[in-house]
Amino acid sequence: MAYTFRGGTHVREYKYTSKCPIEKMAAPDTVYIPLSQHIGAMCTPLVKVGDSVLRGQKIGDVEGGLGCPVHSSVSGKVTEIREVPTPTGQKNKYVVIENDHLDTVSPDVRPFGKAIQDTTTEEIIEVIRRAGISGMGGATFPTYAKISSAIDKVDCMIINCAECEPFITANHRLLLEQPEAVVNGAKILMKALKLRLAHLAVEDNKFDAILALDDVVDGSPLFKVSVMKTKYPQGDERQLIYAITGREIPQGKLPADVGCVVFNAETCAAVYKAFSLGMPLIERIVTASGDCLDTPKNLLVPIGTPYSAIADFCGGYIEEPEKIINGGPMMGMAQWDVDAPVTKGTSAVLFLSKKMNSRYEQPESCIRCGRCVRACPMHLMPNYIAAYARKHDPENAESYGALSCVECGSCAYNCPAHIPIVQYIKVAKSEIRDAKAKK
Ligand code: SF4
Ligand code: SF4
Repeated sequence: MAYTFRGGTHVREYKYTSKCPIEKMAAPDTVYIPLSQHIGAMCTPLVKVGDSVLRGQKIGDVEGGLGCPVHSSVSGKVTEIREVPTPTGQKNKYVVIENDHLDTVSPDVRPFGKAIQDTTTEEIIEVIRRAGISGMGGATFPTYAKISSAIDKVDCMIINCAECEPFITANHRLLLEQPEAVVNGAKILMKALKLRLAHLAVEDNKFDAILALDDVVDGSPLFKVSVMKTKYPQGDERQLIYAITGREIPQGKLPADVGCVVFNAETCAAVYKAFSLGMPLIERIVTASGDCLDTPKNLLVPIGTPYSAIADFCGGYIEEPEKIINGGPMMGMAQWDVDAPVTKGTSAVLFLSKKMNSRYEQPESCIRCGRCVRACPMHLMPNYIAAYARKHDPENAESYGALSCVECGSCAYNCPAHIPIVQYIKVAKSEIRDAKAKK
């Protein structure tokens, strides 16, 4: 029987691209590499305007503290270092590089050169940090830091191949086309954490991927292909951990606190590339989809490629998009700039029409149907939290567990009154944090 969790919802899948093989997209004439693509401090630029850079060259790093270096995805010349506002109102900086289209690779890019069984945990952490790898499922937590914080604390590793958001098929294609890279990357992470078993967690709507993984694993006792029920948000790490182990993560705690660690499938493949080729994280698989795009595709995209170049590569628009989303429609971030670049956390870029977006319009009054409560995988009462958020009452919103909300959107998806529950809860969370800070 497939593993699952309590609550959640069945969303329309719109997986138009599940049969589209990954196409390599040529780098555009100009790339915009953000100096902050991860949780942690922004990188300090290591290049200046006028410098020549090579593909895979480090161009920014964090001086102490949490964060990952960033690398150039092309060879060419730095033309600008520009400060830009992000959709969340924070500030980021882009290193703008004019591509010389020569693809000259940096001499720093070379295979690690040691057999994995002869490698220490410290060496693995160092290689992963140097390669700038952060969680590629969207969370963007630096992978080296996740390993460091899990050492001697975890007995269960889960490789997240669930991909439960509508539209996105990037991981699905990776599992079909490069299952060895995922499994070999997982082996490196297992070596770092001294673990003898990893669960490869795949939803049961990806039967071909389950077969591909079974084939590569070939009966090895190191791996278990764990089939998950197709349900949203199965890819949320709390739900994955509960479904596979029955362990629940208390509010404010991390997976390592209940002995678990979760890595995204593409993160594993990036770890494998860092060891086998020495190539840092300078490109990723992106699902380009939505009802406005002429030809939705799965693409291997250089980091720093603007969304507009992706739309052009997919044949342009059949209808002007009303909304462009970085990530999935449930948890992704709406963008105001069509020239914003792909980053390490961009699993999809969606171009959606007004019609597809319309259900979010004109909220009505709550009819107390309870659908949001039944859908909540965190067992909250989203209707009450939203109501207190509307009244700017953070104390009561917190007493109803607002801080446990993982912002999955299952409640709003099921709300017949189209109440933007998640937006209200986000406001409540921010007011709770403000109130605590003032105290
Ligand atoms: S309240 Fe939060 S965790 Fe619960 S369904 Fe809504 S968004 Fe998801
Ligand atoms: S689903 Fe919407 S209408 Fe129903 S109880 Fe929740 S908030 Fe109210």
